[in-house]
Amino acid sequence: MQRPVIGVVPLWDESRDSLWMLPGYLEGITEAGGLPLVLPLTTDAAALKQCAGICAGFLFTGGQDLSPSLYGRAVSTLCGPVCGVRDAMEQILFSLAVVERHKSALGICRGIQLFNVLLGGTLYQDIPAEFTKSTLSHRQQPPYNRAVHQVRIEPGSPLHEVFGVEHLGVNSYHHQGIAELAPRLVPMARAEDGLIEGVRMKDHPFAWAVQWHPEMALYEESSRKLFRAFVAASSRASPSYP
Ligand code: MN
Repeated sequence: MQRPVIGVVPLWDESRDSLWMLPGYLEGITEAGGLPLVLPLTTDAAALKQCAGICAGFLFTGGQDLSPSLYGRAVSTLCGPVCGVRDAMEQILFSLAVVERHKSALGICRGIQLFNVLLGGTLYQDIPAEFTKSTLSHRQQPPYNRAVHQVRIEPGSPLHEVFGVEHLGVNSYHHQGIAELAPRLVPMARAEDGLIEGVRMKDHPFAWAVQWHPEMALYEESSRKLFRAFVAASSRASPSYP
């Protein structure tokens, strides 16, 4: 049996003017039985449509901050560097593949923020400055495979079914986060300060996203379970491969 092909959004290194990739994203997919395929960084809608036909699922990776123009806000001085090409590419890909074709999707870090923004939500451009009731540090120092705060998994949610636990320690390497939740997203995990760190899209077979980084902690059973749930959903949704 052929493994489901999972399209992975490439990372962008501004200083080197180059694409790059964290091995953990590919290893997480491979270990779960998928075949990762790093996508071209392009805003060519025809090319992305072809990718949507080739791939059974899509991984929306971490990366730069999203442009606040995507959610109609002025750029705060605390917003980090953005990547306009990724913003534009992922906007097209999400619409074509996830919304229109119901392809499976997993969003990680920037990915959860992307899903929220593209579906009508807003972000804190800087958690310490804008989510002032939080006393948690969401931007840890290395090593990034350490759990630094807990999330509570919503009982009865599909994520709870996958993890089998209600409290999970997670790493945290983000300074932005969900402010207003998009109407089509349902919370599945929250940090101790109330920040939404896990979501799923309503009326979709599998479009989930998390704020933490499972690809940096693949030794954790929960990380592997998340990738397996994603690849299994992609496999179910995909046509049989020749
Ligand atoms: Mn966090």
